[in-house]
Amino acid sequence: MEAKKCIVWFRADLRLHDNEALSEALSHCEFIIPIFVFDERVIKGTTKFGFAKTGAHRLKFLLESVKDLKANLQKRGADLVVRFGKPEEEIFKIARKEKTSWVFCNRERTDEEVKVQDALEKRLWSVGQEVRYSRGKMLFYTADLPFPVTHTPDVFTHFRKEVEKFIPIRKPLPTESADLPPLDISVELGSIPSFEQCGATEPKADSRSAFPFEGGETAALAHLKNYLWEKELAATYKKTRNELLGVDFSTKFSPWLAHGCISPKTIYWELKKFEAERIKNESTYWVYFELMWRDFFRLMGKKHQNDIFKFGGPKEVEQKGSEDLALFRIWAEGRTGIPFIDANMIELNQTGFMSNRGRQNVASFLVHDLGINWQMGAEYFESLLIDYDPCSNYGNWNYIAGVGSDPRENRKFNVLGQALRYDKEGTFVKHWIPQLEKLPEDKVHKPWQLSEAESISVGFTLGKDYPDSVLKMS
Ligand SMILES: Cc1cc2nc3c(=O)[nH]c(=O)nc-3n(C[C@H](O)[C@H](O)[C@H](O)COP(=O)(O)OP(=O)(O)OC[C@H]3O[C@@H](n4cnc5c(N)ncnc54)[C@H](O)[C@@H]3O)c2cc1C
Repeated sequence: MEAKKCIVWFRADLRLHDNEALSEALSHCEFIIPIFVFDERVIKGTTKFGFAKTGAHRLKFLLESVKDLKANLQKRGADLVVRFGKPEEEIFKIARKEKTSWVFCNRERTDEEVKVQDALEKRLWSVGQEVRYSRGKMLFYTADLPFPVTHTPDVFTHFRKEVEKFIPIRKPLPTESADLPPLDISVELGSIPSFEQCGATEPKADSRSAFPFEGGETAALAHLKNYLWEKELAATYKKTRNELLGVDFSTKFSPWLAHGCISPKTIYWELKKFEAERIKNESTYWVYFELMWRDFFRLMGKKHQNDIFKFGGPKEVEQKGSEDLALFRIWAEGRTGIPFIDANMIELNQTGFMSNRGRQNVASFLVHDLGINWQMGAEYFESLLIDYDPCSNYGNWNYIAGVGSDPRENRKFNVLGQALRYDKEGTFVKHWIPQLEKLPEDKVHKPWQLSEAESISVGFTLGKDYPDSVLKMS
């Protein structure tokens, strides 16, 4: 019998460890062609409101991750075929030329990604080949859940209570140590595109960033080791996760998780080992708790499908929301005159990262204080976040706008109250807005309250050194 050849299409699973598509391919085929396609529509396209679909920081992270995947495959005697174009066309061409039997890949669940996999599947059928789907994005397997996906509880707490005590998390697949067959192909390997080929300019690193790390599986696993075993940060996570400055306040797993450079099951089982061998407390549990939020939003995406992207959301809420582009730009560029909002937006623009606390506040401010359509904010995040994930992003925006599946109306944050609580001394806002450096602690979050004498004594002019607030805030 002829040896079977198949393709492993790497998508948002840029890793060798715990990779189900790779595992399935290895068990069915003697020859494997690993492929990554930079989808031109995602790399060069724009969102509905005209933002770049992939901002420069995320592009950098993606390029690093693909480079690392290729290097790791090469270390194992294999290699990565790289293409730039439409996956359904590029993969089909290779599948037909190489006469493969199947394309193995992770199944995606959101609209744009589903359209691509469906289009590929249809083409493959025309030459007697098939797509074989795998899983690997979540902690839990949907097959293990005590309810069908369509009955997933719409409230996080209900979901958590139904799964955490009763559903075991499966062990990671040991794919990183499997023997990989050498790449035997007649097509060109192709190369990883440059920033210019992607129509972008390489972003400058900002030394103030809370996420100074690289993309890729190697960096992700090193970070996990460092976070758990060297710094033991999981043991204090619950107390520190809301801090705003520095690399150690929260896990920073999200960019690697979003690109699939690390598997959530791998994090979970390493955390369990840490609990068994070092420390087990409320903080270590809380890392797991937060990872469940990620699964929850993924399941909401599966359950409510395209509704998570719609203005009225899964709840089909009648709502207002202006599309005032000038006001939106003031928010997006960090010029609202409210330091806590501006500092967070400047951090996002400069680095592609923002803390969860920051995201909640800027989102709430855009929707509930400025009255702007939440979809504009969600698309802006989609463009810029290095950890952009459709379900987590749109799920969280749904939640804050009050259009998500959660029965509570909306999540309006008292932005000034939050600023005073989480950045009492103003260290965070001064970090990103140096013009505020000399402002006294009690005015740094409310520069409009400076008296004339105070303004003169610190050499600060509102409206010149820093914008006056777009809204009257008390
Ligand atoms: C408006 C808004 C948009 C968001 N967009 C995204 C997004 O596109 N991609 C993304 O990964 N996260 C998103 N989040 C969730 C959260 O802000 C980030 O996951 C978190 O800040 C990443 O930092 P961390 O890894 O240090 O998180 P940690 O606090 O260390 O949490 C550990 C992990 O748990 C998961 N997690 C924690 N909170 C959430 C949450 N609310 N929703 C989903 N997963 C969570 C993440 O995978 C995270 O890496 C968004 C939140 C808001 C409010």
